[in-house]
Amino acid sequence: MDIVTENHFFSHGSDQRSTPGQREDCHLCQIRAFKTHRSLPITIVNHTGDGAVLPPKFRFTEQSILRDGVTPAANEFRYGCNCEDEESCMYAGCGCLDEVAGSDSEPDDVASDEPDEEDLEILQWAASTQERPSWANQRRSRPGSIDDAVVPRTGYDTDARSRKKKRFAYHSRGAKAGLLRGSMLNNSRAPIYECHDGCLCSKDGCPNRIVERGRQVPLQIFRTEDRRGWGVKTMRPLKRGQFVDCYFGEVITADEAERRRHHASMAQRKDVYLFALDKFTDPTSRDPRLRGPPLEVDGEFTSGPTRFINHSCEPNLRIFARVGDLADKHIHDLALFAVKDIEKGEELTFDYVDGQEEIENNARDAALQVEMTKCLCGSKKCRGYLW
Ligand SMILES: [Zn+2]
Ligand SMILES: [Zn+2]
Ligand SMILES: [Zn+2]
Ligand SMILES: [Zn+2]
Ligand SMILES: [Zn+2]
Repeated sequence: MDIVTENHFFSHGSDQRSTPGQREDCHLCQIRAFKTHRSLPITIVNHTGDGAVLPPKFRFTEQSILRDGVTPAANEFRYGCNCEDEESCMYAGCGCLDEVAGSDSEPDDVASDEPDEEDLEILQWAASTQERPSWANQRRSRPGSIDDAVVPRTGYDTDARSRKKKRFAYHSRGAKAGLLRGSMLNNSRAPIYECHDGCLCSKDGCPNRIVERGRQVPLQIFRTEDRRGWGVKTMRPLKRGQFVDCYFGEVITADEAERRRHHASMAQRKDVYLFALDKFTDPTSRDPRLRGPPLEVDGEFTSGPTRFINHSCEPNLRIFARVGDLADKHIHDLALFAVKDIEKGEELTFDYVDGQEEIENNARDAALQVEMTKCLCGSKKCRGYLW
């Protein structure tokens, strides 16, 4: 038993031998205070014999903390849907899905993989109403792709928009219910729009509240054997498309992030923990909070178990921007989903520079590599360098 575990078990009990401060600093006390501790525990193990413990200043949290200068939308600008039955929250017409069509215009939103069953249903629906779902627009130039077969090339009825069309990001039924659909998983950079506190639909019944319901998987933080520090394993098998947890932390302004980078002992190391909330950043936006520079999430000192997930150039998770209230796009969530089936006990990884092509290209440039951080992921597709 290491010193931390010992202190926890022998002096943090109800006999009050330790001060409240000591208990507040104790990682085991922190994770045992999680609402889901009994059903979905986080465990911490180090079987390497190196005696390492988690950074003493680190604090576990179950949600992000907004720091100075970061404010959620005022109540009068909150925006939720008025769906009275749960079914409605899957379709166009649900106010929470209003922005789905316009938001996924990036070129690689629809990748080469085949659409899955539910995607096909939507395409068939589109064919029958002469409308093309927004995410299928990119397929046009690909000869022989599925929509060439079923969607007529001309005569789209744009007035059909308000008619019933499944628009939310998840499967709605069968074994895949609650999993992200193929069109989202296949390299999509599209954000996920979900229902939330401000909606009229029911919190338990609405099918579009997967991230809002939080982590449903017990995780283990473990010491790796190969110089990669700590890592995270899933203690249950995960299916492709399954939500794991959010990357929580302190939400800070761009200025504060810059200050923290500057004060970090190694600026490049600090980048491991900072994630920009830039999914909706647009210098021409009418919303001043979206014009940039974007807010950032710092998970170094305060975060959940996902803060210990390692990078891989060939990862099994991917981060999606998830929005609840449309008025709070500037503080969108960073939601981690499995992009492949994952076995119980397997290490979880995601690509820290996913989608940042410039950085990915730099990593392959010999002239720039001298200044870059080496990647230790060890995967077959390793780029060799991080940033
Ligand atoms: Zn304790
Ligand atoms: Zn809903
Ligand atoms: Zn709704
Ligand atoms: Zn809603
Ligand atoms: Zn790598």
